[in-house]
Amino acid sequence: MSAPSSTAHRAIAALVEQIDAPTATFFTSCVHCGMCADACLFYTETQDPKYIPIYKLLPMRKVWQQEFTFWGRLMKAAGLAKPITHEELDEWEELVFDSCTLCGRCSLVCPMGNDITYMIRKFREGMTAAGHAPSDLKAAMKRAIELGSPMGVSLATLKAQIKHAEQELGYEVPIDKQGADYMMLLSSAEIAQFHEIIPAVSRIFKAAGVSWTLCSEAFEGTNTGIQIGASDLAAELVERIVAGAEKLKVKTVISPECGHAYMALRWEGPNLIGRPYPFKVVHILELLDDLRQQGKLKTKGKDATRMTYHDPCQIARRGGIVEQPRNLLNEVAQNFVDMEEHGEFNWCCGGGGGVSANERAMPRRLDVFSRKKKQLDDIKVDRIVTACSNCRNMLEEGLEHYRMDNIEVVGLTETIAQYLDESA
Ligand code: SF4
Ligand code: SF4
Repeated sequence: MSAPSSTAHRAIAALVEQIDAPTATFFTSCVHCGMCADACLFYTETQDPKYIPIYKLLPMRKVWQQEFTFWGRLMKAAGLAKPITHEELDEWEELVFDSCTLCGRCSLVCPMGNDITYMIRKFREGMTAAGHAPSDLKAAMKRAIELGSPMGVSLATLKAQIKHAEQELGYEVPIDKQGADYMMLLSSAEIAQFHEIIPAVSRIFKAAGVSWTLCSEAFEGTNTGIQIGASDLAAELVERIVAGAEKLKVKTVISPECGHAYMALRWEGPNLIGRPYPFKVVHILELLDDLRQQGKLKTKGKDATRMTYHDPCQIARRGGIVEQPRNLLNEVAQNFVDMEEHGEFNWCCGGGGGVSANERAMPRRLDVFSRKKKQLDDIKVDRIVTACSNCRNMLEEGLEHYRMDNIEVVGLTETIAQYLDESA
């Protein structure tokens, strides 16, 4: 058997680097029951065994066996175990980046408690370090580092949107206001596509008496470093937000309607940068629901449209925000219906975890949107409300593909703003 090339050695070393105690434990404790298969929409919608979550980790498993287990080392020393190659990793790129949204559903059902999503993220870290990441994600990462936004949205674009919002509102949208209580982050898509978000939060916060600001040096909430698997770059993006919040001396940073931005900032950020934040982090839905409970967010009228709520995976399953959107929708929706599997068990839209930023993954993600189609066919709604601009784009793409674009897709914050009672 021929020895691996020096570049293959480096790729193997990059994967070895990622095998920590939890990953090794999860590989050891897998009992091959296959329960994770039926939790993953890439498997349920294709029935192709290569999309079984734990199978997506096969090269990393091989490295773990050959480098960390007695029998694996022995087999390797005897020349009986084949080392992984660049060709194999090339082939796996599709499984680990294009066919996993990091939705966490597989981790939820594993009877052994294996966090497969965590392992896939570790695998992505190794793959990226070994040079095996999709070119679109690499380009988005480069834009995020160099321009401050994965979509290349600049401060000038944000300022233009603020100006439009001010014309519509008739008052100023706060930016760089020292000592405000809250600093609001946005996602690139909210600035570039969903222009209603700035007027919506401005009106809600004004009516509720919230002291808030945007920050010209830290307005982007998304974190491509998490999606591609580059913790050092993910940390750099978190540091920018921390620096902006510290400069403005705010008490709380608000994560926008974006799934992975919340996960990156709320759950991963302090570990990424190696210190606690001097401020709190809340998701916009948590804040809106708090304001509702305190009687500061009042609405008037109810919408009779039959509507449902799509739970973004990182906000609901991996973030625990399940009740808040429903509390808010109950205030304004007369005809709300949940999908059968919702909240922690909701099915992913198919575009999270960097999949929708990866153009070559489009046919696959549209294919597996059939799961969401089935969920929607069961409840027959005219509108889907969600709280993540990435989900929103994927839902629109999927509905168009399946000729269901009579169903409207809207954000939750703008829905609340539409029924806001500003009379007090
Ligand atoms: S559900 Fe857990 S134990 Fe079962 S095959 Fe998947 S990872 Fe292994
Ligand atoms: S995280 Fe979601 S998409 Fe990825 S393997 Fe698990 S169930 Fe499938």
